Amino acid sequence: MKPLPRVNLDDKIFTLKYYVDEDYAHLRIRDEAVCQRCPTRPCLSFCPAGVYRLDRSGGITVSYQACVECGSCRVACPYANIEWSYPRGGFGVAYKFG
Ligand code: SF4
Ligand code: SF4
Repeated sequence: MKPLPRVNLDDKIFTLKYYVDEDYAHLRIRDEAVCQRCPTRPCLSFCPAGVYRLDRSGGITVSYQACVECGSCRVACPYANIEWSYPRGGFGVAYKFG
């Protein structure tokens, strides 16, 4: 059986279009102190869009503008410390069709 072709995630994400809501962040960290105590910080790896990044003080920054709305962070944060909802109507990611 032939191996499946490799997919470059960054190339795929580059094709997306975003309608950014500058007035409302549809996801946020509930309690930053919980992140400071989180030993493995899986959000740094499970988010396909790299929304969560470590800042210099050891905290987590959230670039909600890049979210592709996969919903993983609703279930994958071991402390349920991420509040997530869909963006407001007319905002968010638009997938390319075809
Ligand atoms: Fe914070 Fe959850 Fe990320 Fe841990 S996985 S650092 S608790 S947002
Ligand atoms: Fe990242 Fe998906 Fe959560 Fe958006 S919904 S922040 S893309 S893990």
